[in-house]
Amino acid sequence: MEALLKSIFVLTVAIIFLRYLGCNDPVYIETVNPTDPISLPSGIHRSVLIVGGGLAGLSAALELAERGYNVTVKEASPMLGGRLKSTEAEILGETFRVDHGFHALFYNYYTFKDVLHRLGINDNFQRWGANHFRFRTYKDEVVESKGPYPFNVIATLLKSPNFKVSDIFGILRISLFFAYYNHDTVYQRYGNITFDEWAEAERAPVWFADTVLRPALSVTFNERTVLNAAEILMYSHFYFTGDEKADQRLIAKVDHRTAVFDPWEQRLKSLGVKIDKNTFVTDLRFDKDWHVSGISPCSQESYDHVILATDLSAVKAIFTKTNQHFPRSKQVNCILKRLQQLPLAPPYKVLRVWFDKQLSSTHPPILQTPEFHPINLVVQYHLIEEKSHEWSQRTGGSIIEFHLYAWSFGDVEDRNVWTKIAPTVKDIYPEIFVKNFKILGYFVHSGKEFASFPASLEHIRPTVNFPSECGVTNLNLAGDWLHTDYPSALMERAVSTGRIAANQVLLSDHVRQAPTLVTSNFGPGYI
Ligand SMILES: Cc1cc2nc3c(=O)[nH]c(=O)nc-3n(C[C@H](O)[C@H](O)[C@H](O)COP(=O)(O)OP(=O)(O)OC[C@H]3O[C@@H](n4cnc5c(N)ncnc54)[C@H](O)[C@@H]3O)c2cc1C
Repeated sequence: MEALLKSIFVLTVAIIFLRYLGCNDPVYIETVNPTDPISLPSGIHRSVLIVGGGLAGLSAALELAERGYNVTVKEASPMLGGRLKSTEAEILGETFRVDHGFHALFYNYYTFKDVLHRLGINDNFQRWGANHFRFRTYKDEVVESKGPYPFNVIATLLKSPNFKVSDIFGILRISLFFAYYNHDTVYQRYGNITFDEWAEAERAPVWFADTVLRPALSVTFNERTVLNAAEILMYSHFYFTGDEKADQRLIAKVDHRTAVFDPWEQRLKSLGVKIDKNTFVTDLRFDKDWHVSGISPCSQESYDHVILATDLSAVKAIFTKTNQHFPRSKQVNCILKRLQQLPLAPPYKVLRVWFDKQLSSTHPPILQTPEFHPINLVVQYHLIEEKSHEWSQRTGGSIIEFHLYAWSFGDVEDRNVWTKIAPTVKDIYPEIFVKNFKILGYFVHSGKEFASFPASLEHIRPTVNFPSECGVTNLNLAGDWLHTDYPSALMERAVSTGRIAANQVLLSDHVRQAPTLVTSNFGPGYI
């Protein structure tokens, strides 16, 4: 009976997906001005200020510098990279470049991959295969999309040790939903409800929602109870069903400063980009036509265009301060009012520990642990990064990173973070305690820059050119906190909004826009 039901299941999923095999190839956002020149004509000079040297800002800088613009980047920190920057840490008398946290780059990151290609740094990355999950209430899952639609989806579901034949109809309903995913309507229909409300309304089988869909909630850095359903449905499309290879990942072989930001900075400098680090921009200055003319603290400088590519909290702070200088400006008020409605996600921490021993080889290098709050992800760095590997070979030790999202323990001194999480670590890796691993070194990154994506606010989330809706036409936004009309998230949203912001600048100067390849707005069932 079970075999019969499974066969019916395979056949039905196959019919759902197979009808329009391969119909969700990536698409180019149309260049609006294909007949305009590719670069600024000689004799024409245009200046652009980019505030923020993270992925979004650097993406815009690369595009505009290559088209002949005078680009200046102002970055508050002493180094580029934003949430992907690498800090130097002295551990046991050695210098390690410690990334802000492990990052994975996915198959659908078309704009980011284009940048890596243009910088000639593809070789700094390696493939990361299957996705390993450990749960408290379910059996361990190993997820990897293999083969074309619909066989990849069927194989993944049937391979799941948590799969229950009695849930077949529920899974078919959800498969149908993703086969017919529509980015144009998903935010209107599900942006106002939480993911939990959606799962209940769709009668999604509980194990399926917990083990397949909900794990994506944690990587948004949001609290799972508030996150809107549309955002998480978009994640599922973007990272799994949006392309049969969507779950393929690349990870850096070395720290991201060496792999990405040093070469990127060199390229920008070779194109004449001025990079001012340690420059904290506090507010914007306007001319009488409500064009941004400059910034504080560099009020003597003026620019034709400005791109604000800082994180949400910084954009809010800059507009709050700007509002103090222009309290009666309806333009500034219009922007600030919108920003003030957008909340931030809870703080997070990333703890990297140097141990004197190594875990047994049965543990995967990268493990997601969505039910072990506050630990969401554990990475054995000595198994994936060259410098850490070399250190572990020499010493017999290991370097393990713990990602602690939606941190709810309040202010805790760095040296006490391990004590707080040790009981949870013990549940995941009892071996560390049984074999009495000794801590040799310790590094903590703390942050609170992520935007929250709660239900009911998606209709007001700004897009790149939102300032123009308020009457400020030479200002654009870029960053991972914005809404995009195409599926995107995290690093790809940062890099692609940087390019879209650059495209706004190019369009206004009659220079041809850059092509932008994006994930299809539709699931594989659509024509
Ligand atoms: C631990 C961790 C793991 C992650 N893992 C992944 C992953 O696996 N895959 C993925 O796709 N994404 C991941 N992300 C998310 C990814 O890092 C971000 O989405 C992306 O880096 C955001 O880039 P951004 O340019 O939008 O913003 P940011 O990187 O925040 O850049 C903004 C820049 O603006 C600067 N700035 C702020 N205020 C000012 C000011 N007043 N004046 C001047 N400069 C200012 C900041 O210093 C910063 O450099 C992860 C993030 C973290 C923290």
